[in-house]
Amino acid sequence: MPEQPSPPVTEATEPCSPTFAALGLSPALSEAAALAGWMAPTPIQAAALPAILQGRDLLGIAPTGSGKTAAFVLPMLQRLLADPAVLAQRPRRLRALILAPTRELALQIGAAASALVKSHGLAPGQGAPLKTVVVVGGLSINPQMMALRGGADLVVATPGRLLDLVDHGALRLSALELLVLDEADRLLDLGFADEIARLLTLLPTRRQALLFSATMPAPLALLAEQLLRDPFRVDMAAGAQAAAPDIVQRAIEVDTARRTPLLRHLIATEGWQRLLVFVGTQYASEHVADKLNRAGVTSAALHGQLSQGRRSQVLADFQAGRLTTLVATDLAARGIDIASMGVVVNHDLPRSAVDYTHRIGRTGRAGEAGLALSFVCADAPGSEAHFRLIEKRQQQRVAREQIPGFEPSAAPQPQAHTPDPTGGVKGRRKSKKDKLREAALVRTGS
Ligand code: AMP
Repeated sequence: MPEQPSPPVTEATEPCSPTFAALGLSPALSEAAALAGWMAPTPIQAAALPAILQGRDLLGIAPTGSGKTAAFVLPMLQRLLADPAVLAQRPRRLRALILAPTRELALQIGAAASALVKSHGLAPGQGAPLKTVVVVGGLSINPQMMALRGGADLVVATPGRLLDLVDHGALRLSALELLVLDEADRLLDLGFADEIARLLTLLPTRRQALLFSATMPAPLALLAEQLLRDPFRVDMAAGAQAAAPDIVQRAIEVDTARRTPLLRHLIATEGWQRLLVFVGTQYASEHVADKLNRAGVTSAALHGQLSQGRRSQVLADFQAGRLTTLVATDLAARGIDIASMGVVVNHDLPRSAVDYTHRIGRTGRAGEAGLALSFVCADAPGSEAHFRLIEKRQQQRVAREQIPGFEPSAAPQPQAHTPDPTGGVKGRRKSKKDKLREAALVRTGS
């Protein structure tokens, strides 16, 4: 019989609920959530938890920082832990799989799940009853194959490595009960469409699937249609204003060469403890981190050329408070989820308004207040114009400030003509208007 078309998805708009227990979460998991510091559900958790616990497929439109990881990990654990007899079966069957676009995100989700499992009440005295394994590319496959010996209940994976392990016979998906695609738009952006298509052919027909994404481009809508059956829909973007994190934006005018000294000055005078500083290049990331370290601000570079081991070490040092500042490129910063990232600094402006939104979204997470600060370089051609474009796209004007002792030596240059070799504004092609203006300037001799 041909499959019936899905009825219209349900729109969840009023996600207020007082406690995790009221949403149907078990007392042990509610306590584990409280031990993680999560006292009340975030809106996405309040909306998604009951539907997931009922076994429904789910389409969640939610940005990072909304608490979406816990929104799927908590009900997933409840399902996995529900039947001790199933948990006791050996070898363990892979029952739940979470796919994430980046190694960092996969490792973070795995760490969050393991921490909840190990929390008080879930593993009284005898170690975790549930086995979680994280498998990601960029690391040797052998230890991951060893970790999968005897099976695993929950695997968190990046798509390429998952399929490698399936091909090696180290993982079987035939008993899968629950699949999560996290940050699904980025999974497609990063070129994992083929891997996901293949994965879908390996899944059993009866399973629950959850798809989370910050955006819903057309190819993803198509994938959602293939993957999900009668999904419950939670759209946090629909109530964006209510769900938007509380971020104060500031823009400071400064000369290009004075940005790092100004940053040091601000760290000292504003008492910032945990900063993420964005730069445009790997070189700038090393260079700025080095300068900050020499000035006594414990810092580390985070960019794509670092080994996975070094990246993990940097993030662990930052988490543990051994570093105050991470100086990162956009790519390396993807997937970083550090709860108390108080301040984000755009040392170099991002290429696009979309990147700007991603960057500043690293602060002000899960309802915490955040600060996003951008350096606008009066002496760099196009820096001011580029920031104006960012303001226009996000429909918000940010007042320009100057800091005494760091005032720019020149008035802002309005045109975005020349690429800035220091990473201020890069890769912008001249528009027709730019060229006309340029020609006019040449004609007037200015
Ligand atoms: P995510 O959107 O999953 O990246 O989560 C963003 C941050 O919110 C993480 O640091 C979580 O630890 C934190 N978080 C998740 N749920 C809650 C909650 N109910 N209350 C407070 N913080 C939370």
